[in-house]
Amino acid sequence: MSTTHKICPACGSDEFVSTPNRYDVLAFEESKFEVVDSHFTDEETVTCRECGEVVDIEESERQGKIVLKVLTP
Ligand SMILES: [Zn+2]
Repeated sequence: MSTTHKICPACGSDEFVSTPNRYDVLAFEESKFEVVDSHFTDEETVTCRECGEVVDIEESERQGKIVLKVLTP
């Protein structure tokens, strides 16, 4: 049985990592880091663990297979 719909079309890896959609801005105060601001990015991103290609989550779920985001320059 083929499982090609579950792997990265670019490199064939079946492992993906998510990028948190939040990050803190830190300042070094009084000998320790203090959070001075928190930012949220628009959306969570999923990238291939092996080659780092960005996965199009919405399109992947719609088509039922891994679809990479086509980055237009
Ligand atoms: Zn890959």
